[in-house]
Amino acid sequence: MKPGLTRAGKWLLNALLPRTCAHCGLDLHYLEPAPLCASCAAGLEPLPELHCAHCGLPLAGGGRSCRDCRGKAAGALALVRSAFVFNPQLRSLVHAFKYRAREDLAGYLAGRMAAALEAFPELARYNFTAAVPLHPAKSRERGFNQAELLASGLAARGNLFHLKNVAVRTRNTPSQTALSKEKRKANISGAFRVADRTIVKGRNILLVDDVATTMATLEELASEFRKAGAGSVAAFTLAREP
Ligand SMILES: [Zn+2]
Ligand SMILES: [Zn+2]
Repeated sequence: MKPGLTRAGKWLLNALLPRTCAHCGLDLHYLEPAPLCASCAAGLEPLPELHCAHCGLPLAGGGRSCRDCRGKAAGALALVRSAFVFNPQLRSLVHAFKYRAREDLAGYLAGRMAAALEAFPELARYNFTAAVPLHPAKSRERGFNQAELLASGLAARGNLFHLKNVAVRTRNTPSQTALSKEKRKANISGAFRVADRTIVKGRNILLVDDVATTMATLEELASEFRKAGAGSVAAFTLAREP
């Protein structure tokens, strides 16, 4: 919903175009700013306190590292944290945002990310945000890059500086979701380029994306930033998929 609308404007807009909860479809009150009804919003799950110190994967049994990170040499990506677990309510929000072109959800989601970021003092030294880039063909098809909107919205709300379109995706890679871990790494290798090395040099950068599914994409992008002279590189995503 447009921020500057008066109460009457909101009522009229709602009468013409009723808003519904992005998860359960229930009608929303016309003054409700969130895209979810109260019960679905309460169903969003913050990242549990027990999570892998490196990749942020929730660890039900506790411990410092997940199985994948245990004993692994440190890569370019210092650490990954997420605002929420990728549960059904979050999935509906991401789906509405990305595939039903609900660009208006960006502000709400970035606000939730900014609030969640405060729970991670280990990310406090990352003062610059950068989005995981989409290939231009995909960006044209969707009309926007969801990660760019989240990164700039998070920076505006979290007092960070956003490095706009600082990296580019030079290859339109097939989706990572159907690939094995090894194939994901090969699939994404060489897919990114840092467009402007001078603005990343020596800076601690927080990569921003909607969902962290595989670390391969974030690790590859972090390695390009490090090669371009960035200080430390970490990632913060809206959601973490187990
Ligand atoms: Zn609902
Ligand atoms: Zn891990």
